[in-house]
Amino acid sequence: PPKLSNDFKKFMKWVDEFRDMKVRTNADRAEDATKAKEFGAEGIGLCRTEHMFFEGERIVEVRRMIMSDNEKERRESLARLLPYQKEDFLGLFKALDGDPVTIRLLDPPLHEFLPHTEDEKKDLAKQFGISYRKVKDRVAALDEANPMLGHRGCRLGITFPEITEMQTRAILEAAIEAKEQGAVVLPEIMVPLIGSGDELIDQKNVIKETAEKVFKDKGTRIDYLIGTMIEVPRAALVADEIAPHADFFSFGTNDLTQMTFGFSRDDIGKFLPDYLERKIVLHDPFQTLDQKGVGKLVAEAADLGRATKPGLKLGICGEHGGDPESIAFCYKQGLDYVSCSPFRVPIARLAAAQEAIAQQENK
Ligand code: PEP
Ligand code: MG
Repeated sequence: PPKLSNDFKKFMKWVDEFRDMKVRTNADRAEDATKAKEFGAEGIGLCRTEHMFFEGERIVEVRRMIMSDNEKERRESLARLLPYQKEDFLGLFKALDGDPVTIRLLDPPLHEFLPHTEDEKKDLAKQFGISYRKVKDRVAALDEANPMLGHRGCRLGITFPEITEMQTRAILEAAIEAKEQGAVVLPEIMVPLIGSGDELIDQKNVIKETAEKVFKDKGTRIDYLIGTMIEVPRAALVADEIAPHADFFSFGTNDLTQMTFGFSRDDIGKFLPDYLERKIVLHDPFQTLDQKGVGKLVAEAADLGRATKPGLKLGICGEHGGDPESIAFCYKQGLDYVSCSPFRVPIARLAAAQEAIAQQENK
């Protein structure tokens, strides 16, 4: 954990006296969450579960699962992945003791898990004892020209519900275990890349059915929330259709910026610097929230969501959650929290307090 001076702690205590918007952190590992807590984070706003699938033996099992067109085999792979996931979440729940933990269901572009070169495909065929032809056909069936606009987020969970089932089971079993070990657990399950109410309903049904099975198996129940990300422009526009099925919305402004501008978030070094120099755009929209366009979608979704469902919890977990100007905008929209990387937590606390003071002075 970082060593923070007493002066820093004292100063931040004053800051917090002015702040009413919460600050959470984006963290996938207990060490990062602990660091963020030291910096003053009041929960995890985004745990990206896909990173966990790339480590060590897991990636082998994930590839085996993806390569199989047989549901029974995929379930067998997922059963082998379950203990790993449970372990990850148990660590987070224990570290966050008493603060909410938002865990997002799997959201990688599928191509990240696929073998690409001929050699990789041959190795995989040998490793899993399947024919090279089968590997090639499967990759051809799953590979996409635009993976970031493709089979990712809830689309994965809808077409492979067994993945959502495994992750829900891992989250809730870990939460029950952490609670039995004395921690106060507040699990929040977040569905990514929703674009319609029906997508959320589909995933919510899978989550709820799985939760009931877990509670029956364990002989106990716990409270948990189900929410969604608002990161596809359509989701913002039909937020009134989505809100009845959600306990919370978290704005994924990285994807929302990408899809609203039609700028690839993975290629920001290409023409964007030229655009900035020519003042065609005034700020890098991936760093500072574009209030005129993307912000309008955020405001619209916040208003529609709250009007449809009073008390709907609202947060932001894109990179903008750690940018002072964007945080001020979130405050004006009445968001309940911003979530940012651990080292930006103090800046976010400051920015939230500063905007609260500015608003008071304007009154
Ligand atoms: C987002 O899109 O803003 C987000 C937080 O999710 P990710 O960056 O993982 O796509
Ligand atoms: Mg996203």
